[in-house]
Amino acid sequence: MRMMLKQWFLVASIAGSYPAKAETTGLWDTNVNYERTFQCPEAEMISPESAEEVQIIVGRALVSGRKVMAGTKNFNSQIDAACAGNHQIQITTERLNRILMIDEKKQVAKVQSGVRLHELNRALHEKGLAINMVAEGGFFSIGGMLGSGTHGSTLTQGASLSDYLINVTMVDGRGSIRTIEGQELEAVKVNLGVLGVVVDATLRVEPLKKVKATIEKGKDDEVAAVMKRLAENHYSANVAWFPGLQEYTATLYDFVPNDTPGKGENNQAELPDWMIKAFKTAYQFSVQPNRPIAECALAQFRKTLRSKSYFYDNGKWQKNPVGWSDQMQYFKCNKNGTCPWDILPMVIQGYAIAMDQLPEWVADVKKIIDQHSTFLNRVCFPLNGIYFRFGEASDAWIAPSYGRTSVFIDLEYFMNTRGMTDDGEVVEVPALPKNFHVLQEIEQLTLQKYHARPHWGKNQAAAFYGVGQGHYEKWQDFIAYKNKVDPLNTFSNPWWQRILDKESPQIYRFPSCARDGNCICETDSDCGGDLSCVSGKVWKKARICQKI
Ligand SMILES: Cc1cc2nc3c(=O)[nH]c(=O)nc-3n(C[C@H](O)[C@H](O)[C@H](O)COP(=O)(O)OP(=O)(O)OC[C@H]3O[C@@H](n4cnc5c(N)ncnc54)[C@H](O)[C@@H]3O)c2cc1C
Repeated sequence: MRMMLKQWFLVASIAGSYPAKAETTGLWDTNVNYERTFQCPEAEMISPESAEEVQIIVGRALVSGRKVMAGTKNFNSQIDAACAGNHQIQITTERLNRILMIDEKKQVAKVQSGVRLHELNRALHEKGLAINMVAEGGFFSIGGMLGSGTHGSTLTQGASLSDYLINVTMVDGRGSIRTIEGQELEAVKVNLGVLGVVVDATLRVEPLKKVKATIEKGKDDEVAAVMKRLAENHYSANVAWFPGLQEYTATLYDFVPNDTPGKGENNQAELPDWMIKAFKTAYQFSVQPNRPIAECALAQFRKTLRSKSYFYDNGKWQKNPVGWSDQMQYFKCNKNGTCPWDILPMVIQGYAIAMDQLPEWVADVKKIIDQHSTFLNRVCFPLNGIYFRFGEASDAWIAPSYGRTSVFIDLEYFMNTRGMTDDGEVVEVPALPKNFHVLQEIEQLTLQKYHARPHWGKNQAAAFYGVGQGHYEKWQDFIAYKNKVDPLNTFSNPWWQRILDKESPQIYRFPSCARDGNCICETDSDCGGDLSCVSGKVWKKARICQKI
């Protein structure tokens, strides 16, 4: 009873200070992700322009007891991290789109949270400044990057936008507009949208730098040591390891004097539509039963493309391009606006492990691949191999690289996905990836043996079950801070509730739940079709869906 009264007084004291009425705006709509494979529940979708407008929206939510979540329109995170719950309030940030200040002398910029990274860099570029190596997609919003801890790859400076944060303006769960800086900022640097709405951010920026990109490729005998060497000896390195082919290819960036000629650009996603469509046809052929070699042939094709360099300068392909670091770091899609995932929707799983775990992890993965491979059916990863990037320890409490030099590992594949192009054409990849069970064993090994921290903006639902204190030393501090700034838990959504709820692995168990990453299978029914739920071959604790 005392608790209830306390709660009532809290609600009355916060919500009661709002003159705003609890009516809805009637703007019911649904937000969908970048490749239209995930649709948020219907919500009241509002796009404010200022902190004051956000404050009114939050005030209305407090009065009516509804939940709020901020996200980008056509968000780039994989599932529902940026979605408001059913009939709650969805703030989208496309009108928080102003660059408020660039101070060349102090090398500081202040931007609203809906500004995209490439828009900010374009404005900075004109003043000889940039933010470098914090993502491979320029289309992410500043708010989304801080929300999910988006990272690029470098050990020589911050690898994540959060590392450049000086302060933020946030509307919190009390409806207050607050400037957050100093030690408190460590809670907010990576915030999952559950602390409040970030309205603007002040960021440290740096002078423009020119870089040269080179490609290194080789056999994978010592691939863990190779990765460490590359990460430690270059300004930036990313490595695509194709274990089925026993090879790797790496893209390396190093500084060159700023007067070196060259305006190189990263064109890795600027592939002609016909090529993506042909790849899709070949992919769908390769996942059919009794098609030996096909998957590895595709992996060979992708590895060859990657190892030939994916940079252009002035419309011409360049083997060792030179360009401005901000332009070289992230890719663009086709001139007609089509991105590869519009034609071939994909799943991106991403995890961070400590750098010193890498040799053992690689050895385990090699064993898994060998155990599941036969002479004619080696396990290959046809999209980008297994993809690695690197970052120094972050002080953001729930950054995947918190407290340790980290390796970011991505597994990308196509899985039962159904999306839609801008013209409304439905695109489907109906099959499971070939060797889905091997991907499952690697993912579970990574999460269970290495206590990997899943990327907050990637991954299917099951990757997040149980993430908390066991992964992050500062988890309880983060929760305590949330309770302080959002005492009524206004900033919450089903994605966040699934992370907190210990029962989630059982609640989200339904026929075929393992096929789209909602569960780890316990019974054959969780796998569905003709797949059985069996133990992993190397990581025995894993439960994987395999055709016996
Ligand atoms: C093709 C592709 C490439 C990718 N490459 C990378 C990469 O190189 N590096 C990487 O780390 N990730 C990458 N990702 C993963 C991910 O999409 C990004 O990390 C990023 O979070 C997406 O940005 P967004 O603006 O779409 O954010 P959203 O998906 O809209 O939001 C991400 C999180 O931030 C919160 N949020 C958004 N805006 C606000 C706000 N104003 N206030 C409070 N919270 C907010 C949301 O609630 C959500 O929790 C990639 C994804 C795709 C599809």
